[in-house]
Amino acid sequence: MAQNDPDFSRVRVVLVETSLARNIGSTARAMMTMGLSRLVLVRPAHFPDPDAYALASGADAILDQAQVVDSLDQALAGCVLALGTSARRRELRVPECGAREAASLTWSHTQQQHEVALVFGSERVGLTNEQLLRCQYLVVIPTSATFSSLNLASAVQLIGYECRMHALAHAGTPPNAPEADEWDPPATVDAVAQMIQQMQTTLDAIGFLHGRSPVRIMRRIQRIYQRASLTSREVQILRGICTETMRALASVARSHPGA
Ligand code: SAH
Repeated sequence: MAQNDPDFSRVRVVLVETSLARNIGSTARAMMTMGLSRLVLVRPAHFPDPDAYALASGADAILDQAQVVDSLDQALAGCVLALGTSARRRELRVPECGAREAASLTWSHTQQQHEVALVFGSERVGLTNEQLLRCQYLVVIPTSATFSSLNLASAVQLIGYECRMHALAHAGTPPNAPEADEWDPPATVDAVAQMIQQMQTTLDAIGFLHGRSPVRIMRRIQRIYQRASLTSREVQILRGICTETMRALASVARSHPGA
């Protein structure tokens, strides 16, 4: 990191199922110009690939250090804030924000030492609804209504630019955020996802999901918990409730066999 460059070491750019190696290269270039350095690739179609290096125009270090993973969950491991991007507004009721607000959120979280992910979809289909639901915000760059889809690397460039502008404007000002609680830090995106998985198993076991659409119910439940900005201990408590519910169920089953 050069002197006076904002510290984006806690920010990762996540590209999901990119089909063209060229776009990975252009993304690396866009990132490097804005001072972003961490690239995570979820199931890229072609990587490593000479086309990526050709388009990176010297941003090779980012490609050399890029992490390749099998799932979005792996890419988001350890993140407290995940921002999903899309050219299209979705009927998901995930809170939406613009690139500037995304930059401000990114900066305030990194100032609190939180890991942040900026998540971008594939060229052909973008992020799926399930993938977007892993994110706390949907970031939409307000492009033309009649031609809204940016090239992947252009989207990274614009968000990276806003992040850089925000960081430069706020360099040296103390973070306007509550003191971090080191005993009870904010829950990570992956911890919340695991909790929701456990909750689904528990709700299924007690019969709550029978006759309902589990996908819809679980989406709503996921939204409730994303709005709540849970801490690690709160996640532990909720998981503890699920564990005890399953135990109670097993004990009822033991005392009333065949019931
Ligand atoms: N055909 C896809 C577009 C993919 S463009 C679709 O309909 O969703 C590749 C990626 O660039 C998108 O998944 C998103 O991450 C980003 N992107 C493109 N245009 C954007 C915009 N206007 N706002 C925010 N992100 C955008």
